[in-house]
Amino acid sequence: DKDDKRAGQPRIIALANQKGGVGKTTTAINLGTALAAIGERVLIIDLDPQGNASTGLGIDRRNRNYSTYDVLIGEVGLREAVIATAVPRLSIAPSTMDLSGLELELGNARDRAFRLRDAIAGLNHNAQPPADYTYVLIDCPPSLNLLTVNAMAASDAILVPLQCEFFALEGLSQLLQTVEQVRSTLNPDLTIHGIVLTMFDSRNNLSNQVVADVRQFMGKKVYDTMIPRNVRISEAPSYGKPVLVYDLKCTGSEAYLRLATEVIQRERELRTTH
Ligand code: ADP
Ligand code: MG
Repeated sequence: DKDDKRAGQPRIIALANQKGGVGKTTTAINLGTALAAIGERVLIIDLDPQGNASTGLGIDRRNRNYSTYDVLIGEVGLREAVIATAVPRLSIAPSTMDLSGLELELGNARDRAFRLRDAIAGLNHNAQPPADYTYVLIDCPPSLNLLTVNAMAASDAILVPLQCEFFALEGLSQLLQTVEQVRSTLNPDLTIHGIVLTMFDSRNNLSNQVVADVRQFMGKKVYDTMIPRNVRISEAPSYGKPVLVYDLKCTGSEAYLRLATEVIQRERELRTTH
């Protein structure tokens, strides 16, 4: 059955929201770190030409020998682009600005939407030892372009960071529509893993109102864990560190650890209900 087919395969989760600045990259870095801290073997794939996930994990631009651009254009395998980070069990395939030209370069290539899926499938091709990631997290750019479509076509599920601000729900239906389109054309197994509310400020009435609205609208898809607005989270990337390494005891780190536990729990539920 499906579970057997999946045995030994990583769970592939894309962090997507076409809005910028909502916490996609921060969540990729820190959920990835938290999952690694509790024993998972995690690969982050940086699919944003800005390369913030790579920089935030301390990967110097000069050390990005191969990037996800080289992988998607077909120059190298994904394995060759992977770099170990300072966090045990956490690796990253970095990106560079080249990635912004990919859509034009791929033109109408028939497999243009499946480049990432095929690259991930090829991770173990002829590889010794085989890659043994348990989670692959894809950090998407702030747009519903070909890169994000590649991420959705390659993923088991989408995790949506939603910032607790007035326009949070605006754009969500467009995102869900895109997921639906990808499901009906490119990837019938795609699901929504969950929605994580970010930059929550309990003293702010608006923040509380947004939480209530999103929970009413999206129900159980919303994780219990909310990521608080926390200055340590925003400071950490300038040191090239995940917040869990920068300040393990801060509220931001605690929240990302709770989110990781919840993601794993939901993973188990998804598996048993399918
Ligand atoms: P995206 O990848 O969706 O564009 P980022 O993860 O880069 O968003 O976050 C946007 C900005 O907000 C960054 O400067 C980041 O450091 C900051 N940030 C993200 N989450 C938090 C948080 N919980 N508390 C404070 N600052 C945050
Ligand atoms: Mg980002």
